Amino acid sequence: MAGLYIHIPFCKTKCAYCDFYSEEKAEHLMLPFIDALTRESDLYRNTFPPGGEKLGSIYFGGGTPSLLPSDCIEILLQHIFLVYPSVSEPEITIEVNPGTVNSETLAHYWKIGINRLSIGVQSFNDSELSLLGRIHTAEQAEQTIRTAHRTGFNNMGIDLIYGLPNQSPRTWRKTLERTVSLSPKHISAYELTWNQSTPLGKQITSNLIPTPDKARVVNMYLWTSAFLNHHGYEHYEISNFARPGYRCLHNDGYWTDKPYLGLGPSAHSSIGDKRFWNVSDIHDYINVLSQNRLPIAGEETINYDQTLLERMMLGLRRKEGIPLAWINRKTGEVDRLIQAGLMSRETDRISLTTRGFLLADEVALHMAALPE
Ligand code: SF4
Repeated sequence: MAGLYIHIPFCKTKCAYCDFYSEEKAEHLMLPFIDALTRESDLYRNTFPPGGEKLGSIYFGGGTPSLLPSDCIEILLQHIFLVYPSVSEPEITIEVNPGTVNSETLAHYWKIGINRLSIGVQSFNDSELSLLGRIHTAEQAEQTIRTAHRTGFNNMGIDLIYGLPNQSPRTWRKTLERTVSLSPKHISAYELTWNQSTPLGKQITSNLIPTPDKARVVNMYLWTSAFLNHHGYEHYEISNFARPGYRCLHNDGYWTDKPYLGLGPSAHSSIGDKRFWNVSDIHDYINVLSQNRLPIAGEETINYDQTLLERMMLGLRRKEGIPLAWINRKTGEVDRLIQAGLMSRETDRISLTTRGFLLADEVALHMAALPE
């Protein structure tokens, strides 16, 4: 099955830590953007999904997709189903930010077939939300989740960020406890990363606020895994936890090397050995598509060794790990990692432990660099 990602590049205001591409206060670009998106999807009509596959997941990400009027989302979805063959009930996710939807919006999403919400809560502490520059309060986030439940959304994910400057284990624990009390089926917990170019990054690098303490952040991560496991969430990927049967199919497709097409400014695609990505700027994007040309900014074809490394890096992110056969002649190294408590082995597969997840990329690079 293939996945379709649609990047909606609009945000009310820019969060202090964010370096994703999005435009503030650009409502006037929404209609030309929808027109460009439909044109872009048309240009892949005969080539995607590849090899007779069907679309198994659609993901509206951003940016803040919930800022687009839900009528626009409906038009886009109808168009996608006209253009691409899909399985009978694809997973359709939309990222929602608290403070941008009401009960009518959510009911409209439900009516048009969206069956999964990913809600950007980030924290249930108002001081932390303010530090992050989020547009909503903890109470608004909780109300959005409760309204979504009432609307019928059973499959809901909540995104959180930990490892903030000045964040104590106590406030993080409270955020997690409040999250679990709202019974989402899926929780993503990402360690804060910041780029020096963002307002938060600038404050940290100029010592206006402290750099998060690494040892404390590692302990938060290990504690989070144990806490969520205890509450029935499977730690199925480095940063992702789900109740049984509620993994995010779309993201799982990325980690299991399924083909995906990204539409919209800055979106990335992976089809077979081809990787390509779009121009970031929305004006360029709209302009190129008005001439019915693909808005591709760059592409590469990866070779056999790069494919193996990519598969290993992605596979080691998941609980299931990778087949032992992929590193056939490096079992001595596997034994060392097992002794160090970073890896475990089950008959024909190896996977990282919770502590090992913290070093997933390094382990993959190290294994790939060892001589055969
Ligand atoms: S809402 Fe999301 S995409 Fe928009 S600025 Fe905030 S973090 Fe970035």
